[in-house]
Amino acid sequence: AKESGKASWVRFEPQMRQDMAHHARLASELHNAIVRGELRLVYQPVFDLRTGLPSGAEALVRWQHPERGFVSPADFIPVAERSGLIVPLGSWVLREACEQLARWRAEFGDEAIPSINVNVAVRQLREAGFVDEVAAVLSETGLTSGNLIIEVTESSVVDGWQVRETLQSLHEMGVQLALDDFGTGQSSLSLLRAFPVDVLKLDKSFVDGIADGADRGRLAVAAAVAQLAEYLQLKAVAEGIENVEQLERLREMGYRYGQGYLMAKPLPAEECGKLMSAAPAH
Ligand code: C2E
Ligand code: CA
Ligand code: CA
Ligand code: CA
Repeated sequence: AKESGKASWVRFEPQMRQDMAHHARLASELHNAIVRGELRLVYQPVFDLRTGLPSGAEALVRWQHPERGFVSPADFIPVAERSGLIVPLGSWVLREACEQLARWRAEFGDEAIPSINVNVAVRQLREAGFVDEVAAVLSETGLTSGNLIIEVTESSVVDGWQVRETLQSLHEMGVQLALDDFGTGQSSLSLLRAFPVDVLKLDKSFVDGIADGADRGRLAVAAAVAQLAEYLQLKAVAEGIENVEQLERLREMGYRYGQGYLMAKPLPAEECGKLMSAAPAH
């Protein structure tokens, strides 16, 4: 068994080396991208499923590489996390997203767009100055802490006491915390008791499973998460809604909020602002 293990290691090595070279190249290009301003944000509206009106938007980063063209965040965010570049990248995202919300509010009124969701990686939460950075960005953009929803994954929350303290401080400051990709992680239930969470975002994979009741397992998770949210008085958000059947089922389960291509794809700032202000959130 040991020998076959060794053999397979040898067999996979060229591929691994290629991946490492690929990551190293991508990391250095990403560094340039930040410097040259090749990154931009798009915004996906979050809808209140009871009223059908938008209630906020999630900022999602995009990289337009001069030669490679569009690079997906699913590819470069993990590279940015491993290289540490996620820290400056994430700082830029936070500031840009808050500045955008401030611009929308100046244009359409403070009520039109209540909040902005920003994805934050665990590496950012480990930085000692993160709480101060959030406070500075909010005050410089004239937003209040309640306007910001920080999305973290479950793995962030189990990272260690330092990250937990950071999340606690953000919560005390009034920033809302959302657990992203909820249902895919491990220790969900005990986490929720120990953590100042405000929002649960059901992972898209469970929404995908809602088709003709075909996948009872994933359907059960989707329903359980909604009940858990109700019981703990948290907001329940379903992401990746692509068809009306999913929307109806999720609404029946008790999801108050939803995101997905059915309602709106991630949009350039201007389009997103128009969409949200055309249907004010009240
Ligand atoms: P996420 O935070 O779970 O974001 C949801 C992803 O699902 C987004 O992909 C969004 O465009 C996509 N999506 C939304 N609705 C639908 C739908 O109905 N159908 C389908 N097929 N997809 C849908 P995106 O923008 O490619 O981002 C992928 C991931 O990259 C994000 O997953 C997040 O983990 C990460 N990411 C993106 N922007 C940032 C960022 O600024 N900071 C950090 N740390 N991570 C980011
Ligand atoms: Ca997210
Ligand atoms: Ca998610
Ligand atoms: Ca995801």
